[in-house]
Amino acid sequence: MKNFRARSILLFLLILAFLTGTVFFVYELAVNSENWALKPYNEHLGANSLSDAGKILDRNSIILAQSINSRRVYNEDEKLRKAVFHLVGDEDFNISTSIQNSLRAKLFGYNFLTGLDVPWFFKKTNDIALTVDSVLCKFAIEKMQNYKGALCIYNYKTGEILCVVSTPTLDILNVPLDVKTNKDYDGVYLNKAISGTYAPGSVFKIITATSAFENFDDADKIKFTCEGVKKINSEKITCMNNHSQETLKEAMKDSCNIFFGDLAIKLGKQKMTKTAELLNFNKQLKIDDFLNTERSVYDVSKASEAQLGWSGIGQANNTVNPVHLMTICGSIANDGLAIMPKILKDTTNLSLKQNLNLQNKNTQRYMSSETANKLKDIMFYTVEQTYISNYFENLKICAKTGTAEVGDGKKPHAWTTGFIDDETNPLAFTIIVENSGFGGRISAPIIGEILKKAVE
Ligand SMILES: [Zn+2]
Repeated sequence: MKNFRARSILLFLLILAFLTGTVFFVYELAVNSENWALKPYNEHLGANSLSDAGKILDRNSIILAQSINSRRVYNEDEKLRKAVFHLVGDEDFNISTSIQNSLRAKLFGYNFLTGLDVPWFFKKTNDIALTVDSVLCKFAIEKMQNYKGALCIYNYKTGEILCVVSTPTLDILNVPLDVKTNKDYDGVYLNKAISGTYAPGSVFKIITATSAFENFDDADKIKFTCEGVKKINSEKITCMNNHSQETLKEAMKDSCNIFFGDLAIKLGKQKMTKTAELLNFNKQLKIDDFLNTERSVYDVSKASEAQLGWSGIGQANNTVNPVHLMTICGSIANDGLAIMPKILKDTTNLSLKQNLNLQNKNTQRYMSSETANKLKDIMFYTVEQTYISNYFENLKICAKTGTAEVGDGKKPHAWTTGFIDDETNPLAFTIIVENSGFGGRISAPIIGEILKKAVE
């Protein structure tokens, strides 16, 4: 009897293990088979793995990539191909955030019941339309000339990304033989707007000012005195000029380091960190539900007092991602409410389309409406009162420039970020031009030209 019972338990355990394994297998098949099957090293895909995939189109139905007679065919305009290279991607899946990589299963029409070997009369590939304007991207690539860097523009009311380019770039139909060894092509397989981060420099003063408005009722009355240099224990904070006593508004226009260093120290580590994290620092940002930006970093946990000051000027160890910075400017334009960026306009894939509709207008409150409006006023004043107003003509631009020192005797990276304060053209933007020199001298005119084109 005892023996019989032991055998029953053993049998029961075996059946249980078998069932668990079966459930696990079916679950994995349903959830992950699409990813396994479409890994680049799956030899069933062959060399020309996108030969039967669907179309990729821009917002105006311009075809960026399609398959004809089992061959992948790209847009016939070379400059346009270069402009959208990081968005479309190549057939070796070198660019992680490209559509041909991240949505390849959808383009294929992969189905876990039938797999890849679907008879042609059952096969249904999917087309994917993006929110970007490829002609605007082409214009942007031309304006970047030979500079390296990235830029992005989006509609801060709808979240639609209109333009995103990264340089250097290449022509998918004419990949240089020395692409892996030539320094000119460093970073060519990275979409720097989505996957890059840089030292923020003075554009971070926007975040320090946000923290001041969110924490102090009298933030616009706070004054600090700049004498060009300020000693803090054995360290110091330096400024380009001797600005004397200033308020936040004047200090933003003059980009005074001493003011924003003092302001960050007055706020302290806790308040600065809380604001930065409410603005999505230290986490990835989602673009639709299939792309993640590189995370921007704000960490003053081990900072000295002077380093805390420098963090408020964007020159400590903090970094910022271009698309993320664009959403911060978008939130200031949009009463403090950030609309998360999206790049998918439409698709014939039903599950993807359903997802899109569910998360349409993914929003997050970055700051109060009062803070946003005060920052808007200050960023408009910053443009109106400085040389960068020359680059924007009739557009009502609110912006901030920044210079990120890179050392090694190289010219600094230059930022310009902001938005058009106009209900009919609700666009926010970020541009970074690597090794181009001080402030907005190069980056502001480039983005100015592109914005003028965008509102045409
Ligand atoms: Zn100063």
